[in-house]
Amino acid sequence: MRLIFLGPPGVGKGTQAKRVCEHFSIIHLSTGDILRAEMAAESEIGQKAKSYIDNGELVPDEVLLGIMDNRLKKEDAQNGYLLDGFPRTIPQAEGLDSIMNNISHSLDGAISLTADEDELVQRLINRGLESGRSDDTPEVIRQRQKVYWNQTAPLLEYYEQKNLLKEVDGLGDIPEITERILSVLK
Ligand code: ADP
Repeated sequence: MRLIFLGPPGVGKGTQAKRVCEHFSIIHLSTGDILRAEMAAESEIGQKAKSYIDNGELVPDEVLLGIMDNRLKKEDAQNGYLLDGFPRTIPQAEGLDSIMNNISHSLDGAISLTADEDELVQRLINRGLESGRSDDTPEVIRQRQKVYWNQTAPLLEYYEQKNLLKEVDGLGDIPEITERILSVLK
């Protein structure tokens, strides 16, 4: 099973991604987590990414495409994966198509988790109080929402045209939402 997860910041992609990965025994690849690990390690990629992330902007496409090209070729990605936070732009989606083509992988579905925007901003402000994530402040959260609607939402149409898009209501309790996701994948 090879899936991508789409949805605005705060919709619960990370939480649901973990549960869906457990269900299918596939790996969870979160580009947010990968970039935060690079920042913590103060690697070249991490240093480059930091200013974009802290401003709620997207890290350049070439950086993400390089990371994913390497990552999807690894042994542990050969039994399936769920991509969480990638692709986030049309060029990333096109790049992903060619990366996957080159290794004869095909996508099984693009799950779009949906929710009301005001609810999301509030959830993220609450998370920021606990997580200490440098980009969970009200101002940066609003910027990330804006980036989502401008740069990432066009992917809904992109995957709809490929007949891969599956929309799932992201409001409700955690197990209930997981059930909805699993049922659209049947
Ligand atoms: P969220 O979905 O809650 O905004 P993520 O953890 O997925 O958070 O991402 C945090 C930040 O990492 C993004 O705001 C962006 O700066 C950067 N990032 C993650 N994935 C990508 C990507 N595919 N392309 C560009 N930037 C990315």
